Amino acid sequence: MNKDLADLIKISNTTGKDSTLVQGGGGNTSVKTAGGKYMYIKASGTALKDMNAKEGWRRLRLEPVLSIITDKSLGKLDASVREPEVVNRLLLACDDNVTSGVRPSVESHLHACLEKCVIHLHPLVIAAYVNAKNGKAELDKLFKNESIVPLWVPYTDPGFMLAKKIARLVGDYQKQYGKKPAVMILEKHGLFVTAKTAETSLRLVRKVIKLCSNKLKKHKARKLKRPALKDISAAKFTIRKALFNATGREIPVGYFSANEAVSAFIQRKDAGKLLSTTALNPDELVYANGTAMWLEKCDAGTITRKLTSLINRGQKPSAAFVIKGLGLFVAADEKTAPVIADITCCSLLIRMHAVNFGGILSLTKREQDFINNWESEAFRKKLASSQ
Ligand SMILES: [Zn+2]
Repeated sequence: MNKDLADLIKISNTTGKDSTLVQGGGGNTSVKTAGGKYMYIKASGTALKDMNAKEGWRRLRLEPVLSIITDKSLGKLDASVREPEVVNRLLLACDDNVTSGVRPSVESHLHACLEKCVIHLHPLVIAAYVNAKNGKAELDKLFKNESIVPLWVPYTDPGFMLAKKIARLVGDYQKQYGKKPAVMILEKHGLFVTAKTAETSLRLVRKVIKLCSNKLKKHKARKLKRPALKDISAAKFTIRKALFNATGREIPVGYFSANEAVSAFIQRKDAGKLLSTTALNPDELVYANGTAMWLEKCDAGTITRKLTSLINRGQKPSAAFVIKGLGLFVAADEKTAPVIADITCCSLLIRMHAVNFGGILSLTKREQDFINNWESEAFRKKLASSQ
């Protein structure tokens, strides 16, 4: 295996196996070859931890990828036409022996304008800031005495618009500091780290995570007794029944034991309030169908009413349910359920942290509509999962 591909696998596997850095198929990585002719990048729909020498990546010619950002005609198209066109051009830029038809990450054009090695993650400790109203101010304080000056990226619709905005902000940064930013922090989204070598990029990830962790308070919680099996079964049955009443579909429901995050959350007086906002990020919106439903008690009538009201407002029925005294339940197939549980546990922690940083900052109605309005659901899922 050549050194650049080996570096890509190394940075991907190292960061991907840590669920506090990235959940499900989220996050992406890339490495440009010497001379800048090619870029290896994670394939869409692959998890970072699953990448290896044979699969989970594509190699692209850099020049046509960069030209996507500068193409003025794309900016004039409606998103529903533009985004599939961008994906198409990314596929055409692929130059490798991969025959499985997997697509390169939909954020390849964004990676193209950064340094040689790029790591993009959705770390829990970063979300604690980027999903809080005073998050940016708190980050400014944290980095004040550091040698790194992070680039702050205000929330932008994913895809072409985000790549274009980042290209512009990176250009401005370069003019001011004489180099590209090593760290970018994206509002309501996550972290980008870019460096000349794989080792430096990994070191940067560790450094930023450590710095941002220092200020976060531990969530104190009494240890909870594991609920009785019959109560868990009854709750599962009730949620399944309510989902059937509201949607006409039979959806399996699983219980995820109350870990520290869930235990701390369900003991809070403000738990209901913390779950009354919209989704924090595209992952929560797409995978968990939005914010988890909070229930003081588990009765089919209440759940059916809440689900029906969501559906009537054009939203999808919740896939995660947080029940006082019991814990977290997820309604989904076996493969998706653990991802939804991961995303929800992170979301609960982020929501508790946000209280200390001025309150929760979540997706606006328009931002949600943009993500929900894709013509094809498959494409929408791809967009969220492959960022
Ligand atoms: Zn992302």
